[in-house]
Amino acid sequence: IKVGAPREIHEDESRVAMTPDSVVHLKNLGYECLIESGAGISAGFSDESYRAVGADVMPSQAALWTSAEIIVKVRPPIELEIGYLTPDKTLISFFYPVQNYDLLHGIGGKRATVIAMDMVPRISRAQKMDALSSMANIAGYRAVIEAGSNFGRFFTGQVTAAGKVPPAKVLVIGAGVAGLAAIGTATSLGAVTYAFDVRPEVAEQIESMGAEFVFLDFGEEQQDGAATGGYATPSSPEFREKQLAKFRELAPQIDIVITTALIPGRDAPKLWLADMVAMMKPGSVIIDLAAERGGNCDLTVPDKRIVSDSGVIVIGYTDFPSRMAAQASTLYATNIRHMLTDLTPGKDGVIVHNMEDDVIRGATVTYQGEITYPPPPPKVK
Ligand code: NAD
Repeated sequence: IKVGAPREIHEDESRVAMTPDSVVHLKNLGYECLIESGAGISAGFSDESYRAVGADVMPSQAALWTSAEIIVKVRPPIELEIGYLTPDKTLISFFYPVQNYDLLHGIGGKRATVIAMDMVPRISRAQKMDALSSMANIAGYRAVIEAGSNFGRFFTGQVTAAGKVPPAKVLVIGAGVAGLAAIGTATSLGAVTYAFDVRPEVAEQIESMGAEFVFLDFGEEQQDGAATGGYATPSSPEFREKQLAKFRELAPQIDIVITTALIPGRDAPKLWLADMVAMMKPGSVIIDLAAERGGNCDLTVPDKRIVSDSGVIVIGYTDFPSRMAAQASTLYATNIRHMLTDLTPGKDGVIVHNMEDDVIRGATVTYQGEITYPPPPPKVK
């Protein structure tokens, strides 16, 4: 069977779903590998580097899609790509079935099978396939780098002959995978870092990375996320008021705010309001990693860098992983080949699509034309 990776069509997408390293692993699983000419170049992988490990370079999109039985890609397919899907094909990609409801139903009619990398259950056994975490980790790191390149001062404090320089103060809101990566990066650059999350159980992780957890004086809570499978739930109005009051207290001293706060299935909560932006010093930087879901900051414009009237820079880029395409492609292609490892128990280049397996079942959004999203709750073992 042939596994193929097309060139991503979206103009801001530099990642690729197959790398020369993943080709080596896929061949060991018994697959032949195809790559569309030029598909890896913006991530730093030339056609030659794929040929060198035995992949076939296909001259065109049509040749790739028609020759491969399994297609691996990054972005959800667009109409043109769906046109190539036939009943024997399996597509493995980010898909976001909730946001792409119509797309899902369109593909159902094609009788193809679609595995959504964003639907891989977040259980320990599936961590090696957890592409959302791989990409969130990169986004958190890149958010700090982006902040640094927009901020006019050092992160670390210095005593120089020309005078003493104070360290930058960074506040990270939301300490999930992206937030923790941002905390690690900011502290390693020497910033004084504070972090806030509604889930108190992350305090220890935050502190172990050298940041200070921002506690609210709210009795038992912050909230207990453990009851909801480790995910946050919307805050009560009282809690939210306390949280906003705390942010108002911090705003005048903070140089860089990185927001990552999300609640599954909802728009991003608004947490850094216009008055807080106005309280910050001119030249301060806000990076809103929740921009795609509406943003945590009032002023965020998705995909844009804006400067507020008071001189605060607000960045709402939604393509942070693609801005580090080499790293992101390497991790994503690894997540994908682990998925294919589980789908190929005989290592013989034959897919065994075991719908009894919680991880495979959870990620499969259409199976031979049948719409299989949402999956049933995982079986209790
Ligand atoms: P996410 O991107 O969905 O959310 C980011 C963070 O925002 C979360 O930590 C959330 O608590 C926080 N948040 C939500 N509302 C907030 C508010 N009003 N104020 C401040 N913070 C707020 O998160 P994620 O990175 O996908 O991780 C979420 C959870 O999933 C964590 O518990 C994580 O440990 C868990 N997880 C588990 C696995 C695994 O076991 N394999 C893998 C990845 C993540």
